[in-house]
Amino acid sequence: MPHGMLLVLAPDDYRIIGASANVCSWCGSGLQELAGASLDRILKAEVRSSIEQGLAQIAQARAPRYLGCFQTLHEATRFDVFAHRSGALCLLEFEAIPADIQHCCLTERFAQVTDSIAALQSAATWQEGMHIAVGELKRLIGCDSVIGVRFLADGSGHAVAEAREPDYPTYLDKRFPRSDIPEPGRRQMVLMPLHYAPELDYEPVPLMLFDPARDPRQIDLGWSVLRSMSRMCSRYYLNMGARSRLLLTLVNHGALWGFFSCQSAAPRPVIYSDRLAYQSYAAMAALLLAEKAQAEQQRDALRAKRRSAQAAAVLASTESIVDAVRLLPGRLLDTLQVSGVALYLDNQLTGAGDLPAAAMIKAMIPWLDRQDSVVATEQLPTLFAPAADYSALATGLLSVRLAKPGQYLLGFRPEWIDEVRWAGDPRKPVEIDEVTAEHRLTPRGSFDVWKEAVRGTARPWLPHEIEAMTDLQQAVILSQHAEQQRNLKFLLQQSNTELEAFAFIVSHDLQEPLHGILNFSQFLRDRTGDQLGPQERAWLDTIMKLGARMGTQIEALLQYARAGQEGLEIQSVDLHRLVRSVLDDLSVRIAETGTRVVITGTLPCLDCDPIRTAAVLENLITNAIKYNDQEVRQVEIGSIDGRVPTLYVRDNGIGIAQQHQQAIFTIFRRLHGRDDFGGGTGAGLTIARKHIERQGGRLWLESAPGQGSIFYFTLGSGPDGSADN
Ligand code: ADP
Repeated sequence: MPHGMLLVLAPDDYRIIGASANVCSWCGSGLQELAGASLDRILKAEVRSSIEQGLAQIAQARAPRYLGCFQTLHEATRFDVFAHRSGALCLLEFEAIPADIQHCCLTERFAQVTDSIAALQSAATWQEGMHIAVGELKRLIGCDSVIGVRFLADGSGHAVAEAREPDYPTYLDKRFPRSDIPEPGRRQMVLMPLHYAPELDYEPVPLMLFDPARDPRQIDLGWSVLRSMSRMCSRYYLNMGARSRLLLTLVNHGALWGFFSCQSAAPRPVIYSDRLAYQSYAAMAALLLAEKAQAEQQRDALRAKRRSAQAAAVLASTESIVDAVRLLPGRLLDTLQVSGVALYLDNQLTGAGDLPAAAMIKAMIPWLDRQDSVVATEQLPTLFAPAADYSALATGLLSVRLAKPGQYLLGFRPEWIDEVRWAGDPRKPVEIDEVTAEHRLTPRGSFDVWKEAVRGTARPWLPHEIEAMTDLQQAVILSQHAEQQRNLKFLLQQSNTELEAFAFIVSHDLQEPLHGILNFSQFLRDRTGDQLGPQERAWLDTIMKLGARMGTQIEALLQYARAGQEGLEIQSVDLHRLVRSVLDDLSVRIAETGTRVVITGTLPCLDCDPIRTAAVLENLITNAIKYNDQEVRQVEIGSIDGRVPTLYVRDNGIGIAQQHQQAIFTIFRRLHGRDDFGGGTGAGLTIARKHIERQGGRLWLESAPGQGSIFYFTLGSGPDGSADN
């Protein structure tokens, strides 16, 4: 740009190896004289040495370093001097300070900026912040117009705030299509927070390198202060009615958030120190505004979350999920900012607010069953055509599937006719240069408002709204499952009780005829024994043997049924004494088998039913002795402290393979031949588990073949009602 000059210096001795073509007008020396010359040619010795000192400190290509304010030998013009490296070369830039420019001292400027930042901090919302910022900037800079633009998700810019002189064209509320700022321009905006052109209608000054072998295009001017802007860009602004422009970018966490475009209808120089102050202001504004926008978003998200949590809490605390869920639509109306909410459960529709016809909602269910479990659309009619008849009620849909297909919670939003006021026709953001017939971007010629009514769309679902709905979905599903489990448990208990009653009656009633069969078989054998042949006598013996086995099984079944039917008598029981008395009862067996039985430590006192608990201990100790092929059988009974004490019976017997450890609790299930290990009915552990579970405890085991077994059990639940340790 012509408001200064640029020198290209050799990296080692700072000789001048190139210059902008306008050097002569700024320092009196022509290009020929400067070729290969040292800086002495244009600067006083002390100026040269302080500039060279500055140059020595510039390590690599990055933003220009401000070296100070200097004069050349030529005349009185003062320059702000900047230096940076481009590859191996040094670029030295002299930005002329107009002699007549009015500016206040730095301290005063920063005091103003500090006040402006304070004003910005008082904003309640980011939108209000933008309004304050454009006003403050216009006042500070004294330009004709400041436009505050925020980038939207689609990359277009929205002029959300404006402060301007009455006769300067307005751009407030207009949208600038994404293509108005091509990608390289966006990158440059992130890299450089300030873009300055004191005069947009200028002739770019070429850069000359004295060595013809060097190509000036190899020099990267990306960071240059005086770099000319693209023709497309300057024309764009000229077409907007601007003759000068200062652009301050708003970057948040490395992303372009928006910008302030400060424009004037006449050329307007702004000195570097002032620009620096405005740049600091914009950096602070970017932080504050983006933070406010984020805080607003978080506040909305939090509010939605709190509401959905409240609704979930109601669900969790309600006995009847159906009733609680039916109340949901009303609660959700305001949480989700929807016009209507419907709940479709068990082919029944419950709703609140304005809803499309029930028939349409019902027709939508099979379609929803084929979609993902969460559907959030702003354009339902494009996905589900019948919704087109209800665009005023159901253009937007947010639906979540509940426990199973066919169950949905649905939120509806009406059509939202958004009028976008594009700054010019957004369909023609890029125009082909017809004069040169080249495919290059030409700037927008007209910024006349081009209105576009966006139809067929509802207000978009925000991420936190979708999240609130899915949170609720989880809560409803959990409650549905909990209720299902409650129902199942109840049904199971009911059928178990019925089954036990049935088993009791059947086994009780079977005992009598069986006794009859056995008795009469005995009579038959006693009375007619001599008249029977050996074969008939063997048959009779088999009848009696099978009958006897049937008798023990019926007896076991009866015991099992009784275990579930008879009332418990819970009392404080000294388990140590209880175990001792069980061992007394088993003393003959223990002596016969030579089993070594030990009680480890002192067993606790617990609230339990002593008769059932003794039966459990007897069964476990008998098994520990029975299923044991060791020379010396060992049985240990002990307890483990815990919230709920755990008792155990350990043996050094044959052990049980993992895959059988569940089966042994099935009634009449034995892992061995009928008469192996002293025989048995296979009902003992089933009955023992029943006794334990009825007292609120658990019975389980650890075992491996050849390693012995440990059977553990608890009695009663812990202080918090849990049965586990
Ligand atoms: P029963 O002892 O009358 O067969 P149980 O219900 O008490 O019936 O036991 C079921 C099966 O579990 C037994 O047949 C046996 O195979 C296995 N079993 C039980 N206790 C032990 C143990 N301590 N060690 C090895 N196997 C055992």
